[in-house]
Parts: sequence; C-alpha cells; structure tokens
Amino acid sequence: MDGDATPRVRHPEKAHKPDNPVQRRKPDWIRVKAPVSKEYHETRALMRRLNLATVCEEAACPNIGECWKQKHATVMILGSVCTRACAFCNVATGLPDKLDPHEPEHVGEAVAALGMAHIVITSVDRDDLDDGGASQFVRVIQEIRKRSPKTTIEILTPDFLRKEGAIEAVVAARPDVFNHNLETVPRLYPTIRPGARYFHSLRLLDTVKRLDPSIFTKSGLMVGLGEDRNEIMQVMDDLRSADVDFLTIGQYLQPTPKHAPVDRFVTPDEFEGYKTMAAGKGFLLVSASPLTRSSYHADADFERLRAARNAKLAGR
Ligand code: SF4
Repeated sequence: MDGDATPRVRHPEKAHKPDNPVQRRKPDWIRVKAPVSKEYHETRALMRRLNLATVCEEAACPNIGECWKQKHATVMILGSVCTRACAFCNVATGLPDKLDPHEPEHVGEAVAALGMAHIVITSVDRDDLDDGGASQFVRVIQEIRKRSPKTTIEILTPDFLRKEGAIEAVVAARPDVFNHNLETVPRLYPTIRPGARYFHSLRLLDTVKRLDPSIFTKSGLMVGLGEDRNEIMQVMDDLRSADVDFLTIGQYLQPTPKHAPVDRFVTPDEFEGYKTMAAGKGFLLVSASPLTRSSYHADADFERLRAARNAKLAGR
C-alpha cells in the first residue's frame, strides 16, 4: 500500500522457495501500453479514497491501462489478503484483514461515482470466515442495487469450499452473472491451485445454474501452464455438462519468479482455435485471446451474452 515504510512480504509462503525460470521475452502479441491516462489516475484516486482494493492492481493485470481509461475496474472485496496460496496468483497471502463493515457502502458509492453500466466484483479467499465471505457478497450486491438499480452485477467468487449454504445465499441475492474460474485443467490442480478441488469448482457452477437458471454462469481458464489441447477440450465438455454459458481463456503470465513458470506462450491462432472449438460445444459466448481475463470487456460481453440467450430462446 502507498506510504508503507516497510512493505509487507506479499507471498510469505513462497519467500523461501527457489526462483522459477522466467520467460523474460514476451512475444509481441502480449505487449501492453503503460497506464497513463487521466481516467486511470481518477479511478485510482477514487479507490484509494474509498479504501477499496481492485484485482486489477493486486493481480498486476496487464489490461489496467485500457480498462481504467474507460473507468472499468474490478473491485476485490473481503480485504486484500488471501488465505490460499495459488501458484499463479499475485494477490497477497497471509493473515487476512478484519472485515470492513463499510465495504459494501463504499463499493456502492464507487459504482455510482464511476457511472458503471456493469460491474464485476471479486474477492480474496476467506477460508477463515464461517461463510467464506458469502454474506459480504450479498451486502455488496444489495448496496449496488440500492444506489444503481440499472447497473448489471457480475460476481467472480471463490469456491466456498466446505462453507455450507454459502452458494445458496449468494444466488438468492440474484447477481446477473455468477463467475467462478476453474483456472486450469484437473491434472495441474495439485501444483497450480493446491487449496482447491476441480470437481468442487465444477459442482459450484452446476449448483448455481440449478438453483437459478436465469443467472448467467461463467468460468475462465489460463493457458500456457503446461496443459495440452485434449485436456482443454475435456474441461470445455465438463463446463458444458454443468450448463455454463460463458467461457474465457487467456494466457498465463508469471507475476514473480516465485510463481509458476510460463510453460509457453500460446499463439493468437491457437486461441482462435480454442474459440471455434468452444463455440462448437455450445457455449453462449466465448472470449479467447492472449490478454483475455475474466473481467476484460465484461460490460460489452454481458450485452452479447444477453443477446445470445434471447436469440436462442427465439430459436434463431
Ligand atoms: S481485465 Fe479485469 S482485472 Fe484486468 S484491468 Fe481489466 S477489469 Fe481489471
């Protein structure tokens, strides 16, 4: 955080691990512009004033310059410290923050101030809380609805592993989109997402759809971690079995040498291939490109998602 005299170690569990190899040279298709716009600075100042964290900053997202220029930020609730220690993620880990009771109002205020048509709310994992943070998601949704009733709400949640009733509570608050990322193929879970369980995450998405079929479901994968094409195809089939509407696929980028190495940079043509393959499997919408992230262009994609469902219902 700004102004700290001694910056905290962001990933204490990784501090004593040897560095992983770093692919220093990114291909041309990964290059992004530095964030310099006036809107970028205004968005940053607003988040600081309201004491809100964003995954855009915490995860060192490469799209921050573009997104914040349009005042599209993804707010990260439940504090800025995660109780898991995934090998791909730059969000700080360790002892989590005390819950901020004003966070829901502050999120509502930020959404209204930015005049957002669509907002994505995500969070850190809070294995320490009895409900995994579900009730804070509910309060945030209610605050946004109260102040900005026309804004559509997308939530990108943790897996609520071993948190009885959490999924049901969040679904009952009726977000427009319920996103939960599978992140990678099941074979890589023990090394990339060791605290999570592939079939639990899949079941979460299935449960959301069964509880309320009107909510769009969405999931995302990172590629370039060592998975192969057949494994990606299998995950697509699994997601379709859970009736997931929207799939995003993007390139994994290694945030620090302590994080999992990039196995390879997947080419734009291969991303196009994944997009075609996923469309053939029946997703309502697919976004696949090197810089695709769960919340990238989420506002425009929501409109496309709604249009795709309407066209399907109309039999077009
Ligand atoms: S892609 Fe998502 S996380 Fe990245 S800057 Fe844009 S809104 Fe933030």
